[in-house]
Amino acid sequence: MTPRILIVEDERHIGLPLKFNCDAEGYESTLVEDGPSALRLLEQPEQSFDLVILDLMLPQMSGYAVLERLRKQGVQVPVLILSARTLPEDRIRSFELGADQYLTKPFELAELLARVRSLLTRFAQIRGTRPFEGPGERRPFEFAGCVVDFARHEVRVRGEPRSLTSLEMKLLRFFTEHEGVVLTRNQLLDNVWGLDSNSTARTVDNFIARLRQHFEINAAQPRHFLSVRGVGYRFLAQPEPGTEAGEVEGT
Ligand code: CA
Repeated sequence: MTPRILIVEDERHIGLPLKFNCDAEGYESTLVEDGPSALRLLEQPEQSFDLVILDLMLPQMSGYAVLERLRKQGVQVPVLILSARTLPEDRIRSFELGADQYLTKPFELAELLARVRSLLTRFAQIRGTRPFEGPGERRPFEFAGCVVDFARHEVRVRGEPRSLTSLEMKLLRFFTEHEGVVLTRNQLLDNVWGLDSNSTARTVDNFIARLRQHFEINAAQPRHFLSVRGVGYRFLAQPEPGTEAGEVEGT
């Protein structure tokens, strides 16, 4: 089962990348921007979250109030407080109200994700369920001498390690999950960059060029990341002989 994380954060420049990174770790995360929305979700029995990342300074209702109400109602979901408040009394109050972890902003993403992993593992053990091993439960994706381990964020191209950005990995993952399907630039923008992004079709083209540089033997004559004229792109793990020439624009 994929762990579900509820992120309660009113600052979008923190909330959106946090959601992106939690999703990239293989979790299924939901972002809300105020306390009442968080409580509405958490109080629905069919919505079972495995972890809440909770900001303290929120509009309408503080993170303290959210936490207090949850615990009073017997909701035992692990809560990680993520706050700009650095005073000991804020930590103490949070722990007294039932928080499990407290991390101050600005924070290191790696530390946050490590804490998330540790909380999820421990609570899975308490519940007696098998801990989530990350998206590593999925095997590395292999094509044409390339091995892509999305869980470990590791890529080898014909034996050579390659370093890809998170966004390159996310785009690559979307392609591998839709192998053979023609994807429009808008589909890629919506699913990889997100609806709120200001990115354009040109951004997609640039990223395709980067994937070709990483993976194609000859980026000018791609065999895996193919242009489909006037439509978009399509990924083929095993190119069908003779099909690529007609599709390639040489971009
Ligand atoms: Ca805030």
